[in-house]
Amino acid sequence: MLIPQVTPSVPLEWGFSTRFDSPEALPPVRLSQVHGCGVVEATEAVVEGDGIWTTTPGVAIGVRVADCTPILLAGPLPGGKAFVAALHAGWKGAVARILEVGVMRYRALGGDPADLTWALGPCIQPCHFEVGPEVVAAFQADPAWHEGLVRTGPVGKPHLDLPGLIRSQARQLGLDPLKDGSVNLCTVCQPDLLWSYRRGDVKARQWGWIRLADERRPVMNGDEQ
Ligand SMILES: [Zn+2]
Repeated sequence: MLIPQVTPSVPLEWGFSTRFDSPEALPPVRLSQVHGCGVVEATEAVVEGDGIWTTTPGVAIGVRVADCTPILLAGPLPGGKAFVAALHAGWKGAVARILEVGVMRYRALGGDPADLTWALGPCIQPCHFEVGPEVVAAFQADPAWHEGLVRTGPVGKPHLDLPGLIRSQARQLGLDPLKDGSVNLCTVCQPDLLWSYRRGDVKARQWGWIRLADERRPVMNGDEQ
């Protein structure tokens, strides 16, 4: 398990799983992911969406990815409550601004985006994210676009910075760069550690997951069994 490199602003457990984490250590599947920007409240049922949130302590939520970017958010709410969310952002979800949808949900509950601790997990990085012109055009249409998010790859095709676009959106949405605990590994570059769809792992996924601490029982990372 890879743990975000920032102290969370509310008591919780969170992480990004690797090849070495057994399914029993991971949250139950609650989302049917469709590369959209729907962000739903956690329930027992499996619902369609690419983001999930809860204010309930002890409920583990997460998204499954293999090259797309997992995003974790956690922050305090009025009345001593707290908010956590996990979002799945491939390029389609990123340009559909799933991060903004998640942050707006937190704001709607009374949270201040500057209070969020947040982390992007391992995903495809610019070293490997070769794309066609339609993806470049979609990125360029995003208000958070800047020219530093594209480079030319070894065979002359454009390579985009997917987590870079999300990080640029985060700044525009008022998230604090000092509360960013991202784990900046490339899924394609790390075959011994991480699954990668583009490298050929068509079924296996890693999780970005989060759970508010439950005062009723002692918890620590890795005790999910
Ligand atoms: Zn790479």
